[in-house]
Amino acid sequence: MPTTVKAYVASSPTSELTPGTVERRDPGDFDVQISIKYTGICHSDIHAARGDWASNYPLVVGHEIVGVVEAVGPKVTRHSVGDRVGVGCFVDSCRECVNCRAGEEQYCLQGATSTYNSFGRDGLPTAGGYSTSIVVDENYVVRIPDGIPLPDAAPLLCAGITMYAPLRNWKAGPGKRVAIIGMGGLGHMGVKIAAALGAEVTVLSQSLKKQEDAVRLGANSYYATSEPATFEYLKGQLDLIINTVSADIDVDAYLSLLALDGTMVLVGLPSKPLSQRAWSLVEFRRNLSGSRMGGIRQTQEMLDFCATHGLGADVEVIHASQINEAFERVLASDVRYRFVIDATTF
Ligand code: NAP
Ligand code: ZN
Ligand code: ZN
Repeated sequence: MPTTVKAYVASSPTSELTPGTVERRDPGDFDVQISIKYTGICHSDIHAARGDWASNYPLVVGHEIVGVVEAVGPKVTRHSVGDRVGVGCFVDSCRECVNCRAGEEQYCLQGATSTYNSFGRDGLPTAGGYSTSIVVDENYVVRIPDGIPLPDAAPLLCAGITMYAPLRNWKAGPGKRVAIIGMGGLGHMGVKIAAALGAEVTVLSQSLKKQEDAVRLGANSYYATSEPATFEYLKGQLDLIINTVSADIDVDAYLSLLALDGTMVLVGLPSKPLSQRAWSLVEFRRNLSGSRMGGIRQTQEMLDFCATHGLGADVEVIHASQINEAFERVLASDVRYRFVIDATTF
């Protein structure tokens, strides 16, 4: 018998999220039932709820989920009742393809099952963390290290791993000049993680408003992209740029900041197609790439890395009734730096 639990629900691309319910299956042999404590508000939740991408309604979003295990199926070995755990952007994958076997389940050739707006193996729609409870296969649940407070840990499940994966893949570290475009939820974690990896970190933000914060988070330098001199000054000066911006940007202008063989990695997901000149790449053998979250193994590695370095997200904990207002503030780049919903208020 499925259990009905409280949730906040998007009924259409134009309606506000409202209190409602969602059904959760009984834990199967390998399932973990999690009492959700906090869920982060990722900009992807807004894209999905507002229909920027193809969405199925009614929709319960949320993929930065932390909580405590309240029940486990009979064959579960990885987690126990009472453990602090997290769930990120996907809750299943085929487990057999080359990418799943390599621990890169987010690139599953059959398509990883997204935490929301997807269909599970049971054929039922998945529903995310804007709710009080969730049931997930143990292999897609990670452990939250004791050192990280739960509210600060929630955003690591998407923002943290989405930045950690490209920073590791493109070898951010001492001697590497790394820039993060956009200091929002993803961007602020990018600054913290890149600094902890020992890279030389530059923030490229629309204005100077977040400069003090950027320095506190570990940035070595900070520039306003509204200032044309920024693009003159930094021309050819960077090795790696990670673009977290959720809107269209002038890709050519940013590519011009890369040195020989430098790479720009897109993680932000604007809904419109990009356009950029071939010359921007050809000129200095530059690379343009993209990156999607990270696998389960690397998510656990990221959480352990954050615990070792004393990192968590900078969060503002909100009541569920403030979700719609929080969406507007995220859209206005007015969040420092992640809203996290207290799940006891659903
Ligand atoms: P966010 O908190 O809203 O941060 C985005 C930042 O981009 C803003 O804080 C702002 O930074 C900057 N920005 C916003 N609008 C801009 C504009 N018109 N021009 C220039 N800069 C602008 O969002 P987020 O949660 O970090 O997510 C960012 C994007 O990543 C979203 O598109 C989301 O869907 C995507 N995402 C992708 C993945 C993946 O796996 N690739 C995972 C999670 C999220 P400043 O104020 O510093 O300018
Ligand atoms: Zn996300
Ligand atoms: Zn697979």
